[in-house]
Amino acid sequence: MRYQRSSALFDEAYQYIPGGVNSPVRAFKSVGGVPVFMKSAKGAYLTDADDNVYVDYINSWGPAILGHTHPDVLEELKIQAEKGFSFGAPTELETEIAKFITENVPNIDQIRMVSSGTEACMSAVRLARGFTGRDKIVKFEGCYHGHSDSFLIKAGSGAATFGNPNSPGVTAGTAKDTLLARYNDFEQVEELFKKNPNEIAAIIIEPIAGNMGCVLPENDFLQKLRILCDENGTLLIFDEVMTGFRLAFGGAQELFNVKADLVTYGKVIGGGLPVGAFAGRNEIMDHLAPKGGVYQAGTLSGNPLAMRAGLKTLQIIKNNPEFFTGLAETTEVLDIEIGKILTEKGIQHKINRQGSMMSVFFDVEVVSNFDDAQKANHSKFNKFFHHMLENGIYLPPSGYETYFISDAIKDAEINLTLDAVRTF
Ligand SMILES: *Cc1c(COP(=O)(O)O)cnc(C)c1O
Repeated sequence: MRYQRSSALFDEAYQYIPGGVNSPVRAFKSVGGVPVFMKSAKGAYLTDADDNVYVDYINSWGPAILGHTHPDVLEELKIQAEKGFSFGAPTELETEIAKFITENVPNIDQIRMVSSGTEACMSAVRLARGFTGRDKIVKFEGCYHGHSDSFLIKAGSGAATFGNPNSPGVTAGTAKDTLLARYNDFEQVEELFKKNPNEIAAIIIEPIAGNMGCVLPENDFLQKLRILCDENGTLLIFDEVMTGFRLAFGGAQELFNVKADLVTYGKVIGGGLPVGAFAGRNEIMDHLAPKGGVYQAGTLSGNPLAMRAGLKTLQIIKNNPEFFTGLAETTEVLDIEIGKILTEKGIQHKINRQGSMMSVFFDVEVVSNFDDAQKANHSKFNKFFHHMLENGIYLPPSGYETYFISDAIKDAEINLTLDAVRTF
């Protein structure tokens, strides 16, 4: 493939945009090479600036679960755009989507819309602190909850009690309130609770981790966290920005039958437009302004175009009872067939998968936490990534990411993908 125009566009972007991109992972820094600039997307396919076409396994990092530019969502957006882009005043549409979500997701009474997953997680933690009157939170190494200060804490040694800032600009004062534990290591979490009695406002977790590659909870980890939180008056926050409306309509809460106190959303909930949200029971959500004292606001929150795209996307999903099983079947085929080909080639690998999320790790046998994910052979992944790209398959440009399977990926796209793996 030729990337002439992409290269030129990147050189130009580099002069005016920090690192040439508006979100770091897009820059291909970890896999090397020049990022591919996209110009259009339809269904399962992306077209780049040089007119190369790719089967897309990123799907805008999750939102395009129906495939790109679904005709029904496009139609809704056109109709809404004629009526107005943004009012900064309440609309009936916001109640419609709030009602639709709270009625179809277990265990939530109220939902507040924001404009990104970062905002959702940041606000949920503030609410948990306001509700409990406590300062500290527990997060897990390798989990990503957006780029708010409290979450950018180094995935340090497992025994770390106090986190260290891993991004310049995060103050020590903020970092000391974020306690770190290893994913799937319940004893370490218990230890943190013993050392910080009555101080922990919330545990925040990706119920299926997707930001260290796809990593699943093991040995009733989530159930145990639920009990621990109940015993200590701590809130359990499920960050379902990635998993919400992707694994099941009710996300991980439904899948694992574990109730969270607060749930955050993003990605799929906006159908490709910038939306995030956080939700919970009345007794907690009532603490938010203007009803309660915990402040949170947004000029474009509940934006009508974003709400239209989100509502239509969620309705399409909900109206198809086979939706999630279909996605899971596609992903299972990819898992099994890619695994077979790699095994035949004598390439050691581990594929983690749940529903429509999956990751391929090289030269490791198990990946249950961030340490394991780090032990995977990332230079081999980088070769794999570039080989797939050359062959028209667009994978996430990092071995620490999840592939997002969309409903537009069918047999033809699976075959193109497997053909590319065969020549790796
Ligand atoms: C993507 C993501 C976020 C951040 O969402 P943005 O919309 O990028 O701010 C937070 N949590 C998880 C689990 C995510 O995958």
